[in-house]
Amino acid sequence: MSLYRDEGVVLRTMRLGEADRIVTLMTKGHGKVRAVAKGVRRTTSKFGGRLEPLSHVALLCWQGRELDIVNQAEVTDAFRTVREDLARMAKAFTVLEVVDQLAQERHANARLYDMLVGALRALEADDAPLLVPAFCLKALALEGSAPVLEECASCGARRDLVAFDLLEGGVLCRSCRRGRAVSPAALELVRRILGGGLASALAEPDGPVVGEVTELATEAMEVHLDRRLRSLRASPAS
Ligand SMILES: [Zn+2]
Repeated sequence: MSLYRDEGVVLRTMRLGEADRIVTLMTKGHGKVRAVAKGVRRTTSKFGGRLEPLSHVALLCWQGRELDIVNQAEVTDAFRTVREDLARMAKAFTVLEVVDQLAQERHANARLYDMLVGALRALEADDAPLLVPAFCLKALALEGSAPVLEECASCGARRDLVAFDLLEGGVLCRSCRRGRAVSPAALELVRRILGGGLASALAEPDGPVVGEVTELATEAMEVHLDRRLRSLRASPAS
């Protein structure tokens, strides 16, 4: 078995036997990795609470055929502010769930990894209303599945874009309209997120336009993944 070093974010964990856990991580160099943390559930564990979901860790792992084995883990960032705030925690779990769905096992995706760490750091610094929608839209763009925004996805008209339908691939003009109605302000905000204006978009205060973009981004991601986002639909208490 070979030993490797990497860094990663814990996406989720699952019990294994009496004392162990299978930890799913998004790593920088090895993509999504599933690794066994032995003895992690014992009080004397050398891992302590380091391998909890959300933790950003430096890792030393043995590469296995199917599952790797965590040899060492040091926390780089525990995102304490996020952990202490239920609303931020819910957002962080949505980001983790999206990455878990998009990332492929043992297939490095450094840009998705950097986006994940960037989103968690932004959430640690500030509870921006558009953080999760912006993350979803950027991740879709990275996947090559960003919605068409500049012209009608059906006829190519560049004016009077009033609706949004994902089955058509994006915005629609008044004559082709189907799906949901979309305001010019919401479209402008989506363009800003995807067009290099992320920082200013994240500074937007909550309001109807932000709500519109949130619904649109969530729906776009759910259509892309062909599943509902569990963390987004669950109440924080459940
Ligand atoms: Zn049209």
